[in-house]
Amino acid sequence: MCQISERSIMCTVKTKKRVAVIGGGVCGICSVKTLKEEGIEPICFEKTGFFGGTWRYHEDDVDGLAAVTWSTVANNSKEMSAISDFPPPKDIPNYLSHRKVYELVCIYVNHFDVLRHMHFNHEVMSVRKAEDYNSTGKWIVTAKNLITGKVITDTYDGVFVCTGQFGYANMPKYPGQEKFQGRIIHSKQLRTFECFKNQRIVVVGVGCSGVDAATETSNFAEQVYLSSRNGAWIFPRLGPYGLPFDMCYLRRWSDILYRLLPYSWSSWIFQRNLERMKFNHSLYSLRPSGHLWAQDPVLTDVLPSKILSGHVMVKSDIKMFTESGVIFEGETKVTEADTIIMATGYKWKFPFLEDGVVTKDGDCLNLYKCMYPTHLPHATLAILGFMLPLGPGFPLGESQCRWATLLLNDKVKLPSPKEMSADVKKTYETNMKRYKRSDRLTTRVDYIEYMDDITSQFGAKPNLLKIFLTDQKLFWALWLGPSLPYQYRLQGPHKWEGAREAILTYKERMEAPLRKKGYRKTKRKFQGFPLKLVLAFIVFWFWISIFTEFESL
Ligand SMILES: Cc1cc2nc3c(=O)[nH]c(=O)nc-3n(C[C@H](O)[C@H](O)[C@H](O)COP(=O)(O)OP(=O)(O)OC[C@H]3O[C@@H](n4cnc5c(N)ncnc54)[C@H](O)[C@@H]3O)c2cc1C
Repeated sequence: MCQISERSIMCTVKTKKRVAVIGGGVCGICSVKTLKEEGIEPICFEKTGFFGGTWRYHEDDVDGLAAVTWSTVANNSKEMSAISDFPPPKDIPNYLSHRKVYELVCIYVNHFDVLRHMHFNHEVMSVRKAEDYNSTGKWIVTAKNLITGKVITDTYDGVFVCTGQFGYANMPKYPGQEKFQGRIIHSKQLRTFECFKNQRIVVVGVGCSGVDAATETSNFAEQVYLSSRNGAWIFPRLGPYGLPFDMCYLRRWSDILYRLLPYSWSSWIFQRNLERMKFNHSLYSLRPSGHLWAQDPVLTDVLPSKILSGHVMVKSDIKMFTESGVIFEGETKVTEADTIIMATGYKWKFPFLEDGVVTKDGDCLNLYKCMYPTHLPHATLAILGFMLPLGPGFPLGESQCRWATLLLNDKVKLPSPKEMSADVKKTYETNMKRYKRSDRLTTRVDYIEYMDDITSQFGAKPNLLKIFLTDQKLFWALWLGPSLPYQYRLQGPHKWEGAREAILTYKERMEAPLRKKGYRKTKRKFQGFPLKLVLAFIVFWFWISIFTEFESL
């Protein structure tokens, strides 16, 4: 733990620009490194006694701090969620447990000497404009030392808000809920699962948290019911040939193809492939009403087999609670339950920000590129990591840090408030056509498109035409291969010499943890073109027979 006195916070050299970074999670840590790189002094306030935010396992339930369970595994593979100039070590697994993510965060923190800029147990209580804000863009930040109770206030050239978006539980209310004699908790409170031994559990919601809660509790519980209002599209971690799934679908060529087609067409193609590869969502009562790009996919390889084995039963929405359980929609019988786990999402808030900074017009948030309040005349306050991506979040957060830092140093400029508002409106209208209505509509982004968009603001989006003309090997890796974050360090400010190498060697890092030492690959018995053709024919007819029997289910 870092022990730094308030005095040292106040005494930081004032000649450099100073930025208050609020939150010491992955975004906060990347911000510190990125600000230092640009010669700006970061002062990072973290309300807990540790860094890593979501990924530092903790037992207690802290308001405003997201949490993982003892068995949480990242949804995205290590290569796809890498920081752009920091490829993961070869020997760590492809999908990291929370412990491994935290270990990686520790290596990053040490490597870039982040710790000495962090002020632990300091909760930021308020952020308001300085008196001379109109001319300087400065902010006054008040933080409280949660150990001593001392309050410190200082003026900063900028503020990076990195407080996460899954820290406040959303608890719905159902008719008769107060009568229920069992326990009702939120998925954010889950840590370990042995305590559910022999219990009857109802999990409400089929997002990532709901599915994890259902599959993990079902290892101990007598019965788990998974209550779903609208179903979900289930993505596996295990892709074709056992490759990490996100490496297979986050590729430029397919992304462009999908983008050229209307959403309904491209999602239909993706859905068909997904269902053929894994399972028919209708057969499992999980098919959502919307198409595949219209909601967050849920990552699990386990749920279908848990449903097949009856450990998890899919149910509809809860109609009402009784003393001993719940009645699901479409049923009259009470389903007895000991514990209800509400995996019903999160509420977002920035309780320390002065009123009117982040606002909503109906469902439309006033954040340009999910980061900048459109009405503010200076780019000195950025909300980072506040997007809901289809794809890995870490590289997106990091690219936001890079852009926000360059904006602070006046190396790039934001458009006018009018242009920013028009862009937000356009995003809102585009997303309205694709997603269900929600107050986070404007913060929904696609990984490749958003990475390209943010990095093109500061010249780090790879110039594919130039690469095609000068470096064919790299071009084909970028065009056909997985869209790795290192490509955004090939050019632009703080480009990284190792980026090309990292892109071309990703397979080694992906394969390394799968290879057993001394393992000898057995030679395939069937080789040669005619045999392969016969094999392909048999496989084709195998799929045709299944397709004709089950396609209409
Ligand atoms: C269970 C779970 C699984 C996830 N899995 C993935 C995944 O697989 N891939 C992925 O990309 N994303 C995933 N996410 C999203 C996750 O939010 C990001 O991975 C990432 O951790 C966000 O980092 P952050 O720094 O923005 O926020 P956080 O990690 O939430 O950190 C915010 C920090 O701010 C601090 N803080 C809050 N308020 C204050 C204040 N007023 N003053 C000072 N400090 C404050 C908090 O204590 C915390 O340390 C997951 C989230 C959850 C909850």
